[in-house]
Amino acid sequence: MKMSPQDKKLDEMLRSSALVAGGFMGDDQRSVFEVIEADAATLRERGVNAAMLAQRMRELTETAKQGLGTWVDADGGAMRVMSEEYKGILVCPWGHTGHFDKRIIIAERPATGQTLSWTDLNVHLIEAHGFFEGKGSAFRVEPEQAVRILIE
Ligand SMILES: [Zn+2]
Repeated sequence: MKMSPQDKKLDEMLRSSALVAGGFMGDDQRSVFEVIEADAATLRERGVNAAMLAQRMRELTETAKQGLGTWVDADGGAMRVMSEEYKGILVCPWGHTGHFDKRIIIAERPATGQTLSWTDLNVHLIEAHGFFEGKGSAFRVEPEQAVRILIE
């Protein structure tokens, strides 16, 4: 895939540890745009889009924050969520102004033990950029898994 100099710069920055240790791309060899396109296709196959998923993650984040580090029931007990707060902030690699608290949300379906975790920055990257991060990155959200645990 041919990338403009500007696209190339973004791709390189996402692979660097400039904003987050290990970068946003993990060991994914695809370009950031190929990652975004493939993940969008995964969502489409399941009748979901990034905005729907981000909205659901945002609601669960708000629920989790109420627990102050302990589990909180959601969906009438079909799901439970917890928020872990860390010191520091994260910024959007696309250069959006503002920053995101370093907070990890864990969602679990007690019936199956399946879990999914994400940060506030993940929610922004998914909503604004359709970016779930590259394979092997510490905070990649696997779209197929996210749909299965949060939506289906
Ligand atoms: Zn952004």
